[in-house]
Amino acid sequence: MNAFDNALKQLDRAAAVGRVGEELLARLRVPERQVRVAIPVKMDDGSTRLFEGYRVQHSSVRGPYKGGIRYHPDADINEVKALALWMTMKCAVADLPMGGGKGGITVDPKRLSKKELERLSRGWVRALSPLIGPRTDVPAPDLNTTPEIIGWMADEYRKITGEKTGATFTGKPLEKGGSEGRVLATGLGGFFAFDALREQFGIKYGATVAVQGMGNVGGNAAKIFSERGYRVIAMSDSRGGIFNGRGLEVAAVFAHKEKHGALTKFPGARTISNEALLELPADVLIPAALENQLTAKNAKRIKARVILELANGPTTPEADDILFARGIPVVPDILANSGGVIVSTFEWEQNLKGQHWSEKKVFAKLKTIIQREARRVAAEAKKRKTDLRRAAFLVAFGRLEKALKSAL
Ligand code: NAD
Repeated sequence: MNAFDNALKQLDRAAAVGRVGEELLARLRVPERQVRVAIPVKMDDGSTRLFEGYRVQHSSVRGPYKGGIRYHPDADINEVKALALWMTMKCAVADLPMGGGKGGITVDPKRLSKKELERLSRGWVRALSPLIGPRTDVPAPDLNTTPEIIGWMADEYRKITGEKTGATFTGKPLEKGGSEGRVLATGLGGFFAFDALREQFGIKYGATVAVQGMGNVGGNAAKIFSERGYRVIAMSDSRGGIFNGRGLEVAAVFAHKEKHGALTKFPGARTISNEALLELPADVLIPAALENQLTAKNAKRIKARVILELANGPTTPEADDILFARGIPVVPDILANSGGVIVSTFEWEQNLKGQHWSEKKVFAKLKTIIQREARRVAAEAKKRKTDLRRAAFLVAFGRLEKALKSAL
């Protein structure tokens, strides 16, 4: 399954239910710039290894390119292109003054020492520094890229260019110009989006939740839903998951993973596979790991009442059709996980203005934006009698079209 093909299908499917100009569609189908670089890294044993890195600058119609950098053994240019296209749509849905981009490196970071990881991260910046900058392209974290990694990158960029605002990278550690609330932003934004539409979905407070993935996004989502009175009945990482119908104590699950390095043998819970987690009878299913998890194969068996996409691209277009026909709403990634880029944009703005906002202010602004746009997308879906994904694309098309026209 090619993620970029799926992203193109999503464009066409949304275009078919609304009105979109030919020029905009043509421009969205082809990224403005795609770059592949070789990054030589001195390994701890003295040898030099080459890694492949990417930056795709998809659209600058609404502002500087914006999007994370992914470290993963399966990262490739097609995946990065899809993620970049989704960033363009995501920034438009959130009405941010940003375009879309994405980056990556094909690497399994777990197999590198910390020093090797630092040299690799600095190498990505050396290879791509001429193409990025606070007014051109602003990268951020994604899978496996932590605030510490982003801190190294920001430092390298500053060394190379002398740029002093720090606004070229977002997701930095607080002491290096990061924003309050950035770490929680994606999970919390997902909760706010869900909460804005909860009544419409017919879901009660305290409903059950299953979360796939427990990194920055899934881990924080599990904590946030649980703190707000929801019953988290399943969690997982790359090696599999655990289930307890009465609810898991989320903090204890993290402590167990920390101590034992895995989720297995968590007291009182049944070990389950990641595939089985997706098919549990939870009220809310939150895929928060990788692409292509809900497909034509398993969509018929999904028992959740709502799907909140905190990962990028977890549902294929074929699965979308099956879930829509079955009346299971999917809150799409370009809306549900936009909290990350919203707070990243706040970080950029604070750096450019030399300000530091309180966490309270950051979360209040995040809530206002994401809930306003969640309601707008839901209203569009109702008006067009379509699913939330197509509706979100239509909202984005409208804003991109305006920007394109005003630029001519
Ligand atoms: P992360 O590296 O912090 O965590 C990833 C988690 O997924 C880990 O718990 C890992 O064990 C798990 N995982 C990996 N492979 C898996 C598999 N095959 N099955 C189940 N779980 C698996 O990454 P993250 O930042 O939390 O990103 C997760 C998803 O959210 C990605 O799709 C990313 O693009 C998306 N996203 C991230 C942000 C952000 O701000 N970090 C923003 C928007 C969207």
